[in-house]
Amino acid sequence: MSKRVAVIGAGPSGLAQLRAFQSAAQNGADIPEIVCFEKQSNWGGLWNYTWRTGVDENGEPVHGSMYRYLWSNGPKEGLEFADYSFEEHFGKQIASYPPRAVLFDYIEGRVLKADVRKWIKFSTVVRFVEYDDEKGDFEITVHDMENDTVYKERFDNFICASGHFSSPNVPEYPGFAAFNGRIVHAHDFRDAREFADKDVLLLGASYSAEDIGSQCWKYGAKTVTTSYRSAPMGFDWPDNWEEKPALEKVEGRTAYFVDGTTKDIDAIILCTGYKHYFPFLPDDLRLKTANRLATADLYKGVVYVNNPKMFYLGMQDQWFTFNMFDAQAWYVRDVIMDRIAVPADKETLLADVAERVAREDASDDVKYAIKYQADYVKELVAETDYPSFNIDGACEAFFEWKKHKAEDIMAFRNNSYTSVITGTLAPKHHTPWKDALDDSLEVYLQN
Ligand SMILES: Cc1cc2nc3c(=O)[nH]c(=O)nc-3n(C[C@H](O)[C@H](O)[C@H](O)COP(=O)(O)OP(=O)(O)OC[C@H]3O[C@@H](n4cnc5c(N)ncnc54)[C@H](O)[C@@H]3O)c2cc1C
Repeated sequence: MSKRVAVIGAGPSGLAQLRAFQSAAQNGADIPEIVCFEKQSNWGGLWNYTWRTGVDENGEPVHGSMYRYLWSNGPKEGLEFADYSFEEHFGKQIASYPPRAVLFDYIEGRVLKADVRKWIKFSTVVRFVEYDDEKGDFEITVHDMENDTVYKERFDNFICASGHFSSPNVPEYPGFAAFNGRIVHAHDFRDAREFADKDVLLLGASYSAEDIGSQCWKYGAKTVTTSYRSAPMGFDWPDNWEEKPALEKVEGRTAYFVDGTTKDIDAIILCTGYKHYFPFLPDDLRLKTANRLATADLYKGVVYVNNPKMFYLGMQDQWFTFNMFDAQAWYVRDVIMDRIAVPADKETLLADVAERVAREDASDDVKYAIKYQADYVKELVAETDYPSFNIDGACEAFFEWKKHKAEDIMAFRNNSYTSVITGTLAPKHHTPWKDALDDSLEVYLQN
């Protein structure tokens, strides 16, 4: 096939795309030339841990938002690749909430097996992308950091898999500039030990606040306070953890909340979310969407309605992750390889988006949201040759996970679930999560 296809990002989404094309080639298809540009020196995206914050070794914004001691925040049975099980990778079934290093190893195992590293240009930052109306293709300007050269290449299709949990949303509150302690966004949080014996305030009521707060608690924070704007998380927290309503201001080391209460604190961690941010894209190609299940302007959640030669992967808010990225990548591959036809008129594409938005908006219920995204994965899987798997079974793992969190937020990671790929029940981990201070791959995999 004479087409050239560019992929930005070698995180789980971009790697899913490479694996999708490689799988077609393995089955005898004539595939396009694939070039993946990755600004980091290794693959894995957010799962490629870095201690760095601010800028990287090349002066580029650090992509990583993950921290030491991060364990999967949902059961691995919800994210397992249908074409590469945990048992295939580790040679045995493993416990249900692997730490970051274990998941990195798993992600890497599949793409090593597929031998797609040769398609990736590492330490190469995509600087700008332009669509050429006359030629009907994309001109991509990149910066090769190792050789310190900037060059342009042309591609027939362009797939943006650059992630959306990297550019922090940073609010400002009165008194921040004069706060006598540390203020850090979750994006720059790396090691909970820094907050041992400290009174820590976390702003936010979503995963970051819950998980970073839990890390701080596990590694010895004196107290944890989380502050919510709309609703408390409402878990049965440990004695030294309290939830407060919105922050009003800080003075010295004292935080003032809208209910009139105060708390003396040493540090503030802003768990205030991320922005979809694409500094390398002009207006006509740049996705503008909220972090939601039905993104704006993406037909089938992946095809950009304003230019259907361009695709976005993984831009949704995520219950499903790795296997959803796979479903998307297989679908995009088949559009590019003319196996699936995308409607030619923009109205039809927009109607698809509107229908998805309305269906998401129909309920606030969490189970509804999980099923909604499961239906989306089912829809895409049904249109491609991605191995079908028991997606309802993965939903059941998510429902159990929710129940286990409500029962005991500091112990939910001690539970086990059944793989929907191999049908095997995960073993219990050898050490309860709160006592497992060394979460290296070697220690985690010990029997
Ligand atoms: C703190 C945190 C914890 C999480 N925990 C879990 C979890 O437990 N389980 C789970 O399933 N998911 C988790 N996630 C969700 C996470 O989004 C996905 O697991 C996954 O990493 C998304 O993959 P991605 O490839 O879409 O994006 P990313 O992993 O963000 O990868 C994007 C890649 O694009 C590259 N890139 C960006 N811009 C450029 C450029 N201009 N030029 C070249 N390359 C570029 C980046 O370097 C990066 O490698 C977590 C996310 C965060 C932030």
